[in-house]
Amino acid sequence: MKRLPLAMALTASLVHLSAAAQAPPAAAPAGLDPRIQKLITSVSEERMRQLLTKLSSFKTRNTCSDPNAPDAVGAARQWIFDELTRTNPKLQVSFDTHPGLTSRRCTGPFELRNVMAVLPGKTPRRIYVSGHYDSVNLGARGQEGLNTTGSREGVAPTQATTPPPNPALPAAGANDDGSGTVLSMELARVFAESGIEFDATLVFMTVAGEEQGLVGAAAHAKAAKEQKLPIQAWFNNDIVGNSHGGDGIVDGATIRIYSEGPEDSPSRSLAQFTRRIAAGYVPSHRIRLMARRDRFSRGGDHSALNAQGFAAIGFRESRENYAKQHNANDTIDGVDFSYLAQNARVNAAAMATLALAPPPPVITNERGQPTIDRRPSGYDAHLRWTASPGAAGYRIFWRNAWAPDWEHELFAGNVTEYVLAHANIDDWVFGVAAVDAAGHESTVNAYIAAARTPEGGS
Ligand SMILES: [Zn+2]
Repeated sequence: MKRLPLAMALTASLVHLSAAAQAPPAAAPAGLDPRIQKLITSVSEERMRQLLTKLSSFKTRNTCSDPNAPDAVGAARQWIFDELTRTNPKLQVSFDTHPGLTSRRCTGPFELRNVMAVLPGKTPRRIYVSGHYDSVNLGARGQEGLNTTGSREGVAPTQATTPPPNPALPAAGANDDGSGTVLSMELARVFAESGIEFDATLVFMTVAGEEQGLVGAAAHAKAAKEQKLPIQAWFNNDIVGNSHGGDGIVDGATIRIYSEGPEDSPSRSLAQFTRRIAAGYVPSHRIRLMARRDRFSRGGDHSALNAQGFAAIGFRESRENYAKQHNANDTIDGVDFSYLAQNARVNAAAMATLALAPPPPVITNERGQPTIDRRPSGYDAHLRWTASPGAAGYRIFWRNAWAPDWEHELFAGNVTEYVLAHANIDDWVFGVAAVDAAGHESTVNAYIAAARTPEGGS
């Protein structure tokens, strides 16, 4: 028998099991949705500058600062609320209020208010984009001091004895995280004005209490889980506006995404999806995926969502300047608005596509087992899935079982099973995405081998 190298075999000898087996698979629905392209183009660098000029003019947005002072957290959150309200009548703006919270970074209990703007879709499934509007001043050297001395966060025993930071100190928080806040506020405008009727409900969220230990995101995530809110994805943007690293390296052309593992987890799949879609719509901006939940000794609101079982990813600028974080130096002159706008555009591309795409196909049976086997020859990859509502076809992806990202893909047409002949399912990872008639593609669901050895052993 003739033997082909596996890669050739995978592409050369495909056996098609569906009813439509005689017809060749339809060509992949091509390209980019012009409505999404228009939406992305309408992201305004200038409006983000205007928003951040106002937001960073409050003396502090420390969650524990005086809520009644005219230049602290209460005034800042009210301004965000009012600004979102006057942005577009389609946005349903509210405070997401959580009283009586405590944190070692506050002297007493505090009331926390996230500000959210909801753009209702045809279905209740929700996609969030967020930044945290609260700020903090940890001392003159800020994050750089922590990095070099570990004085506030570096060593666990110190944490219990370190006094809370003074909430009255100036903390403009222009980049941390005014950048993610105005990114979310600008996307609220862009999506509401787009005229697109999204399938998903979109939530533009500005979060408080991040600097107290993700308490605002955690409170929202806990309530969402209790209420069984169908949160499909959460795009968290935190420190996304600076392109000049403190070490002198300048990079305005890339952004990092952190995501919780393991490989093929919902968050990793969301990260891969975001890079894939953004590469199509914003090819001038490159996403660098990081197979980590976050940076060393640093946290972000996406992790609070992960803790409740939701898919969430964290956007982080590629080159940080630690001397301008968590102190009085985090001012608007450190923000590169052209870079921030590019980061808003990659968020927008992924959010809009996900909000229009069908759900990913179900690839497990009632018992949760992956619907993949070796039929018909005993040496093939036979994939089955449940049809997704609204799908016009499916795209199959595969990669070497040691590779971090998809290496091959093909459009299978409108079928619910497919055979890749002579592909050993033990050596390759397979996944499937649903695609609608306009080409909007879902995230990829991967066939994951069972964690336990089945009865009978190997
Ligand atoms: Zn932050």
